[in-house]
Amino acid sequence: MNSSANEIVLQGLTLSEGIAIGLPFFFPTVEDQVPKFAIAEEDLEKELDRYKKAIYKSEKDLRKLCLNLEKEDANEVIEILKAHLEILKDPLLNSNMERKLYEERRNIESIFQDTIYEFKERFLGLSDSFFQDRVKDIVDVSKRILRHLSLSKDSKFFQVPFGSVVFSKELMPSDIAEVNNNQVSAFVTQRGGLTSHTAIIARAKGIPFIANIDTQLIGKTEINSIIVDGFKGVVILNPNLTTLKKYQKTIKGKQGLFDKLQEIAHLKTETLDKETVNLFGNIETQSDIDLLLKYNASGVGLFRSEYLFLMGREFPTEEDQFNVYRSFVKKLGKLPLVIRIFDIGGDKNNEYILKQNKDLANEMNPVLGCRAIRYLMSNEAILISQLRAILRASIYGNIHILVPMVSDVSELLFVREKIQQVRGELEKENILLPKKIPLGCMIEVPSSAIMSEVIAQEADFLSIGTNDLIQYVMAADRTNPHLSHIYTASHPSIIRLIQMVVEAAINNHKPLLLCGEIAADAKFIPILLGLGIRDLSVSSRHLPLVKDAIRKINLQEAIELTKKALKLTKKEELQEFIQKNYQERLAAKN
Ligand code: PEP
Ligand code: MG
Repeated sequence: MNSSANEIVLQGLTLSEGIAIGLPFFFPTVEDQVPKFAIAEEDLEKELDRYKKAIYKSEKDLRKLCLNLEKEDANEVIEILKAHLEILKDPLLNSNMERKLYEERRNIESIFQDTIYEFKERFLGLSDSFFQDRVKDIVDVSKRILRHLSLSKDSKFFQVPFGSVVFSKELMPSDIAEVNNNQVSAFVTQRGGLTSHTAIIARAKGIPFIANIDTQLIGKTEINSIIVDGFKGVVILNPNLTTLKKYQKTIKGKQGLFDKLQEIAHLKTETLDKETVNLFGNIETQSDIDLLLKYNASGVGLFRSEYLFLMGREFPTEEDQFNVYRSFVKKLGKLPLVIRIFDIGGDKNNEYILKQNKDLANEMNPVLGCRAIRYLMSNEAILISQLRAILRASIYGNIHILVPMVSDVSELLFVREKIQQVRGELEKENILLPKKIPLGCMIEVPSSAIMSEVIAQEADFLSIGTNDLIQYVMAADRTNPHLSHIYTASHPSIIRLIQMVVEAAINNHKPLLLCGEIAADAKFIPILLGLGIRDLSVSSRHLPLVKDAIRKINLQEAIELTKKALKLTKKEELQEFIQKNYQERLAAKN
């Protein structure tokens, strides 16, 4: 930590580039970090209603749990849950809550937390062990209620003042999926890796994000203002006037560069020696499509459909999904829309899914667990309803289906069989369907890359997901900032595997797309082109930047460069080689 006067500079790891100046907001991540804020008099009734709903939902949970346990004859646990049900109905607790809310006029979670604390203290002070034992129940049931209170969309980001720098130990993709870059100017966390889904979303939204910062320490510091420099990976607390002025100037300059990049939106995506590259967009929401169309992309290369439920709580129905897919594909006209079926699991979960699937919640290694196609194969009803929605929407445009986390060709064949089954059902219902809906396979697990020759025979197209491929090849968690030196695309094993997949696609005359985050890394793009990749899919916001990088590459030179890169056997050598080439290209440009 460096400091001058009371300016404090903290070094972290950049997950999303950009510069922001703002005031801190500490985002609660666990039950005991409940936010505290004032409530206007006219909103007090709504606040009380929120509490009543949370009690109702907790009661419903507990009754359902009791029913399941009855089947298993787990009488002891049922007794505990019954005690929890009694607490929920405790008139003293509920009247206390109401009185305090109207007296103190602050958000119900904070009132609830204080009330529970008082109850706990009172019970612990009694000598009777019956009451002491009940403290455990009170704490347990209060967690359940708080979870329901914080699950309401309203209590997440709505209280974040505009322009805040949000600090949190950790943020989940579902936490930030609906945030926009007017409201939050930057994220700072302790945990989070470069290709964690939270980081991907932040980059897609153009929000700077720095991880590996001790947010607890910051919580104890008095802060007047903050600068987040997502280019250098630093967070500056209480910047002095000179620093502040310097950064205000930099922000202006960067905006100018960004505006310039927008000007190339109408130009072709081709190399200096006129080789065409198809640029697609990775999307999570409808607004990403608008941006992608503005930047003249060739279509949607990856729709992460799991964001349909990450944004909400429950799974969208077939009808909900049909409406979304139809509206997306209609917006795109003839351009392709690659819908990746739900990639549930790993870090893409929400409380609802975990509550419904106890096995998922208890997994020791969720990233190596029942994720994506594995989850869909064991929850067939969810797969079938998604396939029905996709097939029904496919008559309105050019839809492709993509299967995530395939580790064996049989998983792809399973989906093909289910598509046939759904097609049969829909035809019986007289629903019009196109003759062919291409089915693609994500290559993001090492076994699939190694077996890509076999998979390419069965799939209509392949899509390399380097975010996961790197994670699984290097055995390094993509969300762990402490492993960023191991989690890297610049490892000889990664470029050799990509080369293998390219050859499999060429041999079998199948289209191949690359949709991991390295597709937007200007340092890496020449290597990807040199390896033979011609279709790249990147977050909509990065389309101009990637187009600009491609338009400055000479393909023949990129091929020669890649031949040399493939001969390198050490990670450090390859990293240095790629970095040096990038610096040389930058220097030649200036
Ligand atoms: C990938 O793994 O590279 C990918 C594109 O999928 P996701 O980032 O959604 O896991
Ligand atoms: Mg993936």
